[in-house]
Amino acid sequence: MFVGHYSVAFAAKSDRNKIPLWVLFIAVQFLDYIWATLVLLGIEKLRVIKGFTAGSMLDSYFHPYSHSLIAAIAWSCVAGLAYKIFCSRRRFLYRKYGAFMVGAVVFSHWILDLIAHPRDLAIYDNTWKVGFGLWNYRDPEFALEIGLLGVGIKCDAGNS
Ligand SMILES: [Zn+2]
Repeated sequence: MFVGHYSVAFAAKSDRNKIPLWVLFIAVQFLDYIWATLVLLGIEKLRVIKGFTAGSMLDSYFHPYSHSLIAAIAWSCVAGLAYKIFCSRRRFLYRKYGAFMVGAVVFSHWILDLIAHPRDLAIYDNTWKVGFGLWNYRDPEFALEIGLLGVGIKCDAGNS
């Protein structure tokens, strides 16, 4: 999933939780930032295969530390906690459940990736791989991404 992740950021932004949109933008892509960093460090592995799926040429065949289910849950907790600490250090307005919300938004990345990715998302470590493979169907995948983004922006407009 690419732009579809941002729909969650728009949908999660509300007057009640006061979480800035830029924090939510980082949160929805947090797992991919970790992934990109680990790929650059040579810890997680990626190869480019022409026609790997209809929607993407990237075969991220080893990414247990950023994209396994267990890792996604752990990073979501870390991000939620980091947000809470950040708010208290910067004297940012912190609302109840803000940390939980940020954590949930980070985790939403894994759920959306589960829909889009081919079977390359491990449950833990590098085993039990899952993925519904919507990337194999270019048009429906593209439609879903744009549709999600539209719904997310509409939710944001409704919230503020
Ligand atoms: Zn991802």
